[in-house]
Amino acid sequence: MSKGILFVLSGPSGVGKGTVLDALMENFDDVEYSVSATTRERRPGEVDGEDYFFISEERFQELKKNDKFIESAKVHNNYYGTPKKYVDRILNQGKDIILEIDIQGAKQVREKYPNAVFIFLKPPSIEELKNRLQKRGTENCKNKKVRIKNAKTEIKKVCEYDYTILNDKVKNAVIELKRIILKEKNKKRS
Ligand code: 5GP
Repeated sequence: MSKGILFVLSGPSGVGKGTVLDALMENFDDVEYSVSATTRERRPGEVDGEDYFFISEERFQELKKNDKFIESAKVHNNYYGTPKKYVDRILNQGKDIILEIDIQGAKQVREKYPNAVFIFLKPPSIEELKNRLQKRGTENCKNKKVRIKNAKTEIKKVCEYDYTILNDKVKNAVIELKRIILKEKNKKRS
């Protein structure tokens, strides 16, 4: 049996990756979602094991040392990593999976999984990104500044991705993401 396709979705904080992925997963069974591990504090409403595996920094470093992550990175002052076991199991079953990770992580995945498909979700503008982060209300002033500063660096890496989706309207971004996934699946079949 041939292996599944690994999709990687990146984009700056506040661009709406989570919203787009939630909307995608609601009525689309063709792709699994990989839950990352993080040392960041849990936000109100986030569920351990669903949004992230919330772990201590000590545990994170132990998992990293034992090669349990496909990739890992320090993003906006917290650590994040993609658990290897689950992703490889899904791919070996011939099923497809999507990771929502930052550009540093995407670079590591590119080296280990050269057939992966890389998708970048772009905001209409930095101003709009600021508005969205403000509206989301999850970050304090200092964290917001870090995320906006990082966004400017991240957007410059868009050319390293196979596809770019402009997240102007969530509905349209979801349609586009589905289209890309189905296109890649068909490409693999033919
Ligand atoms: P947030 O704290 O807003 O949930 O996520 C912050 C950033 O970390 C986002 O850019 C998100 O894509 C990234 N991120 C989430 N999980 C992972 C992961 O497993 N690995 C890497 N490298 N980045 C991640």
